[in-house]
Amino acid sequence: MAKLTVKDLELKDKKVLLRCDFNVPQDENLNITDDTRIRASLATIKYILNQSPKKLILISHLGRPDGKATAKYSLKPVAQRLKELLGQEVIMLTDCVGETVKKDIESAKETLILLENLRFHPEEEKNDPVFSQSLASLAEVFVNDAFGTAHRAHGSTEGVTHYLKSASGLLLEKEINYLGGALEKPKKPFIVILGGAKVSDKITVIENLLPKADEIIIGGGMCYTFLKAQGQKIGNSKLEKDKIDLARDILAQAKKQKVKISLPIDNLVTDKIGEGSKVEIAGEDIPEGLIGVDIGPKTIDNFCADLKGAQTILWNGPLGIFEIDAFANGTKKVAECISKLKAITIIGGGDTAAAISKFGLEDKMTHVSTGGGASLEFLEGKTLPGIAALTER
Ligand code: AMP
Repeated sequence: MAKLTVKDLELKDKKVLLRCDFNVPQDENLNITDDTRIRASLATIKYILNQSPKKLILISHLGRPDGKATAKYSLKPVAQRLKELLGQEVIMLTDCVGETVKKDIESAKETLILLENLRFHPEEEKNDPVFSQSLASLAEVFVNDAFGTAHRAHGSTEGVTHYLKSASGLLLEKEINYLGGALEKPKKPFIVILGGAKVSDKITVIENLLPKADEIIIGGGMCYTFLKAQGQKIGNSKLEKDKIDLARDILAQAKKQKVKISLPIDNLVTDKIGEGSKVEIAGEDIPEGLIGVDIGPKTIDNFCADLKGAQTILWNGPLGIFEIDAFANGTKKVAECISKLKAITIIGGGDTAAAISKFGLEDKMTHVSTGGGASLEFLEGKTLPGIAALTER
């Protein structure tokens, strides 16, 4: 990669500003319910601490406090969790910019300091240069490890890079290497699995991946617009009427470029979406009044048979409404099938990562992305401002 990475930097006795993604889910008592993102940042934190920096200053956002300091969105629970995971003291300050913060950093007895939620300041999301400069003035070098916000040009992702030498952290570098590697030079055969709610969310991804993939497997809510475009009956399944022509066009383009498109040949259907609703298997055509909520058993076998021949697999979007156990089987079976393969398996962030985590298969995949929106934009071929802004090597 042409950008500086943390390993290129001399960090001994330096004050290092590290942008992490500590945007973790919490319950009503503010207990962290999933600390994956905190654990994902540990490698870079430990690496920097091993270089004997003067101070390691961690910054992050949490939730959407709309520019106001709100106890609900405090990073205090993150400081506590970090302490437990690292087995060392973490000093938590009550703000992220200003003279008091600066003084507190200077006088801190510990090396590791976590600043309060960046989004308590509206200037963060506005990428205000004065705010970015204040953040930059706290340190001598900047490292960005927050892939989840790399698609946003904010003060702490883009703005700050104008004032400090800026490098990627180990997690950000890993994300770029795996997602970028799949896009630039995938080991062939390269099979892409696409699912999720809507075709409209994935059009640019399909267009970007069509010239690179050998096969695109389509399931989830988005497959019914394609099935409709092929002239099949889809009952009351999710349909984007205004995207039928586009789906037909994509199918024709794929044929021309000799890319196989695999769609479900059977479906799990119901007349009501909900926990405990009655399900049955429908063939290619879904009867009137019924809704497709997952791929059927023959489709699972078909998809898995094709996937066995892949060297690289990239998956974005669940193949059914996996949040409801009765509709999760297709996503689960395909996840289990690819977890046993020797292929490079890359899982897009957001709902797909949540599904893989629900099935306990994270460790069996080559890479599970930590960014939902960011991984989608990356796969669309867009330049992510948080990455583009890093210092060139
Ligand atoms: P996305 O964020 O576009 O990847 O969409 C993820 C969402 O798609 C999940 O919440 C799934 O429940 C939903 N989804 C998957 N399959 C279907 C389906 N057959 N009908 C409606 N929604 C679906």
